[in-house]
Amino acid sequence: MKIAVFGTKSYDRHFLEAANRDRGHELTFFEPNLNTDTAILAKDFPAVCVFVNDTLDRPTLEAIADGGTCIVALRCTGFNQVDLAAADDLNITVVRVPAYSPYAVAEHAVGLILTLNRKIHRAYNRVREGNFALDGLLGFDLHEKTVGIIGTGRIGAIATRILSQGFDCHVLAYDVKPNPELEEMGIEYVELPELFANSDIISLHCPLTPDTHHLINKEAIDRMKQGVMLVNTSRGALVDTTAAIDGLKSRKIGYLALDVYEQESNLFFENLSEEIIEDDVFQRLLTFPNVLITGHQAFFTENALSNIADTTLSNIEDLEAGKSCPNQVSSKQVVSSKK
Ligand code: NAD
Repeated sequence: MKIAVFGTKSYDRHFLEAANRDRGHELTFFEPNLNTDTAILAKDFPAVCVFVNDTLDRPTLEAIADGGTCIVALRCTGFNQVDLAAADDLNITVVRVPAYSPYAVAEHAVGLILTLNRKIHRAYNRVREGNFALDGLLGFDLHEKTVGIIGTGRIGAIATRILSQGFDCHVLAYDVKPNPELEEMGIEYVELPELFANSDIISLHCPLTPDTHHLINKEAIDRMKQGVMLVNTSRGALVDTTAAIDGLKSRKIGYLALDVYEQESNLFFENLSEEIIEDDVFQRLLTFPNVLITGHQAFFTENALSNIADTTLSNIEDLEAGKSCPNQVSSKQVVSSKK
């Protein structure tokens, strides 16, 4: 099939070409993200392949449907960037990669916790400058700390196992649909207010939906323990960034680790080191010594990129063969699961 790949980086090309080696799809790689301005590039491509910062609102979907596109293949898990109702109206089938390497994201979340707690990022720079002083590097033992995990699907369940079995943390979990395997392991599910009130560390692993938009807002932060560590590797808009900044200023939030950010589409995945960054909220975040930000890299492992490329092409092949694709997403599914 002719597939237009948008927002292409060198690594996307590398892994998609490798996955396509024995398959023979016609892949055309475009560097720009898909939006109404670039939708013309998709003309005569039955399938487009997109990522988290492509725009798939109604006008863009209308434009690509006009050009003959009927498949949107997301090379990511989350699908909050797609107007699924519009896709349904336009007979565009949307498929995604539900699980490429949940380990990649869960392990990155734990990496952020360790880095922020033990200030490894600061120690790295100090030692390179010959500064071996320890002041300012004081951390705490993770052992027996209480960690609140919000969303215990694939990624949250792995984070739970790493933290409970690996570090002996006490995990409090919250999910609209508790995970029976974790319940069997003795993981305690509680309501959100209890999780907020009792967790030393809170890590977010639920999808971004209307229900979870700004799940971490002023009221939630007010309920949290003094000095709480908040970790978001899920989706930026789960956290009201302004409320988080207020929480940092009042010292309520003692540590903040973000791999995702509400307005990340203007920043992440690009080298802006020579540019003036105009996002004052983001720049304010960077001024805090207890904030650690990575640019949406939690998924970025060889295993994950290889799985993403393989599943993306398999999804397209299922649809091409007229089969139902298990990785299809539709607006009905979202309404029924309240996600
Ligand atoms: P998943 O579907 O396996 O698990 C999500 C869990 O969240 C499910 O158990 C679901 O019941 C739960 N959930 C849904 N609505 C909820 C709510 N209102 N409150 C609490 N829990 C709720 O998904 P996953 O594979 O574990 O991925 C989780 C999220 O991680 C994705 O939605 C995506 O946004 C994010 N993600 C980030 C990266 C990255 O690189 N940073 C990579 C992949 C995924």
